[in-house]
Amino acid sequence: MTAALSIRAARKAFGGLVAVNDVSFEVKQGELLGLIGPNGSGKTTMLNLISGALPPTAGEILLDGRRISGLPAHAIARQGVSRTFQLVRVLPSLDAEENVMSGAVFGHVRLWGEDARRVARVMLDRVGLGERAHMPVAAMTYIDQKRVELARALAANPRVLLLDEWLAGLNPSELQIGISLIDELRHEGRTIVMVEHVMDAIRSLCDRCVVMSSGRMIAEGGVAETLSDPEVVRAYLGD
Ligand code: ADP
Repeated sequence: MTAALSIRAARKAFGGLVAVNDVSFEVKQGELLGLIGPNGSGKTTMLNLISGALPPTAGEILLDGRRISGLPAHAIARQGVSRTFQLVRVLPSLDAEENVMSGAVFGHVRLWGEDARRVARVMLDRVGLGERAHMPVAAMTYIDQKRVELARALAANPRVLLLDEWLAGLNPSELQIGISLIDELRHEGRTIVMVEHVMDAIRSLCDRCVVMSSGRMIAEGGVAETLSDPEVVRAYLGD
């Protein structure tokens, strides 16, 4: 079966600094893959390469077997890659529904007007914000802004969803809510790549993980075995 996402020898250099160094891995359809590693190991850069925010210096990235690397970010979004950002990016002056509608308008399945609004309502319900659809996002709490961003990504009906530390900054009870929400998405069969520092979330949610350190992939496989790999332990201790 063709992988949902294939990363083949991806490389990204910023001048002399190689942030992603010859990284290859695949994400199967319906899989939740954790992308982990110490700070500065290249995880966000990897997501930027997949989403097209940055072009790779070398290598290629395929979505359902079709090459997406080299396309501009908006075209990659149209092909079916949606993401959330480490620092939430919402349009604060708009309400939640309008923010989520923008995901439907610019996403994989391009919807307009009332169709976009209908999908936005479904996705706001999906993330538990149905009652707050018309609240300005600027007036929302941090976790609710994160939910809006997730709903916007889902409204695009993505083939692959990229979560960049979506659980970061949540308090312990919010964290449980956030983990349950991602677990539900996983059970819906969505294909997800999550960059995450919250190890409990990685352990409880991920089917597999890829570990990066200094731009390289140093381990890949089942979560328990990967986290106990001596090279992975060393990489984290050196963080
Ligand atoms: P992580 O997400 O694992 O913390 P990043 O991908 O953010 O790591 O960063 C990997 C390395 O690339 C770091 O050394 C970082 O400083 C560098 N880097 C990331 N983005 C840029 C950029 N736009 N320009 C220059 N260096 C960058």
